[in-house]
Amino acid sequence: MEKIVSLSKRRGFVYQSSEVYGGLNGCWDYGPLGVELLRNVENEWWQEMTYREDIEGIDTSILMHPRVWEASGHVENFTDPMVDCKECKARFRADQLEESLCGNPAYKGRKAIKCQGEGKFTEARQFNLMFKTFVGPVEDDGSVVYLRPETAQGIYVNFLNVQSASRQKLPFGIAQIGKAFRNEINTKNFLFRTREFEQMEMQFFVKPGTDVEWFNYWKEERLKWFVNLGLKKEKLQFNQHEPDKLAHYAKDAFDIEYEFPFGWGEIEGIHNRTDYDLTRHEQYSGKSLKFFDEQTRERYIPYIIETSAGASRSFMAFLVDAYAEEEAPTADGGMKVRTVLKFHQRLAPIKAAVFPLVNRDGMPEIAKKITTTLRPHIRVFYDESGAVGRRYRRQDETGTPYCITVDSQTLDDQTVTVRDRDSMQQERISIDKILQYLGDRMDA
Ligand code: ATP
Repeated sequence: MEKIVSLSKRRGFVYQSSEVYGGLNGCWDYGPLGVELLRNVENEWWQEMTYREDIEGIDTSILMHPRVWEASGHVENFTDPMVDCKECKARFRADQLEESLCGNPAYKGRKAIKCQGEGKFTEARQFNLMFKTFVGPVEDDGSVVYLRPETAQGIYVNFLNVQSASRQKLPFGIAQIGKAFRNEINTKNFLFRTREFEQMEMQFFVKPGTDVEWFNYWKEERLKWFVNLGLKKEKLQFNQHEPDKLAHYAKDAFDIEYEFPFGWGEIEGIHNRTDYDLTRHEQYSGKSLKFFDEQTRERYIPYIIETSAGASRSFMAFLVDAYAEEEAPTADGGMKVRTVLKFHQRLAPIKAAVFPLVNRDGMPEIAKKITTTLRPHIRVFYDESGAVGRRYRRQDETGTPYCITVDSQTLDDQTVTVRDRDSMQQERISIDKILQYLGDRMDA
C-alpha cells in the first residue's frame, strides 16, 4: 500500500486534503490523473446502469429535510459503538479492535484488542456517524440538517416524481452518483474508509414477490461489471451478511469484496431493502408513495433492490489491481524492474502518449501535429524530454496503454511506432491509421 500511496502522490492521482496545513484526516483530493480515473470509473458505471430502457438517472441535493433521516432510521440506527482507551486516549470502533492498533507509541504495532483484554477501555457508547450542520444564521435545534450519509434517500423521496415523468412501469430503477459523508470513528487504509466519499447507487423498484429474482440478477450483473473492467476474478468474492448482521431495512445482503493488500474489503453492497424505505417515507411524510399498476389495477409499495458502490473505493480497487512491478528489458540489453499500472483501456486516465524520438529534423512538429489530431477524440499526452526509454517508463507508471513515437523512418514513409504498454511490443503503422488503430483496440 505504501508504494501505491506514494506513486499516487508523485504522479498526481491522490493527495492528502489540505496537506500544507498537515492534512485533514479521512479526506483526500484527486489530482489531474486521479480525477480523470475517477470520472472514467463513474462514466463506465453511468453508461452501464442508465443506458438501458429500465433505469433513469437523477441528481439530488446533499442537504435534505431532516425528517428524511428520521424516516430512514439513520437518526436512530446509523451508529457505531465507540470506546476510548483510558491510557493513550485513542478512540476506536469497538467492533474493529481486532484490526486497530494501540495508540501508545510504547506499544507500537500492538493490536487494540490486547488493550481491551487488559481492561483499558471505557464502556462502548453509540456514536452517530451523520455530520450535522445548520441551515440559516441561527444554530438551534430547529435548523439542524445533515450531510447525507448515502445517496439512496434522495432517490426514494423522488420515486413517484421520476416514475410519472418518465412513464416507467415496474420493474424500473433510478441511479445516482454523488458525495456522501460519514463521520467515521477511525479512518484508515488510504481511500478505503474516508469521511467524505463518492457513491454510485442504483435503486431498482420491483413488484413484491419478484424481489428475490431481481436481487440475484443484480448481484451477478454487478460482479460482472468489475470483472469486465479488468479486476482479477480471484481477487473478488461475495460475502453474504449473516441474518444477525443484516441492516435494519434488509431482507438479504451480499457484499462484493476485493482483496486489498490489507485484506478483503467491501467495495459494493447489494441489498434487498423490501418495502421498508417507501413505507417509512409514507408514514413520516403523510404522502402516498404507492405505485399504481394500470394493467392489474393494483396499488402497492414496491420492494427495492439496491446496488450501492463506493466510487472512491472502486477507484482504489482498480488502482491496486492495476499496479505491477515486473522485469523489463533495457535499451542496453539488460533487465530492470518497471512499475506499470495495467488499467483497463477504458479506465486509463491518458489513452496515448506521443513522442518525437529526437528533438530535430522536424520530428517534434510531426509529433505535435499527431497530438493535435488525436486530442478531440482521446486524452493524449505529448512528451519530448529525456531518453525515449525513460519516457516509456513514465507512461507505464501512469497506465498509458499506447505510446506513439515519431522517428527517422517517419520522415520517409509517414509511419510511426505504436508501443503497447502490457506486451511492450511495437507495431509500425501509418499516421493516418492511428486513430482507427487505437479505436479498434479500445472497443475490443
Ligand atoms: P463499511 O461496513 O465498510 O463501513 P457499509 O456497509 O457501511 O461499509 P454501505 O452503507 O453499504 O457501506 O455503503 C455502500 C458503499 O459505499 C460501500 O460498499 C463502500 O464502497 C462505500 N463506502 C461506505 N462507507 C465508506 C467510507 N467511509 N469511505 C469510502 N467509501 C465508503
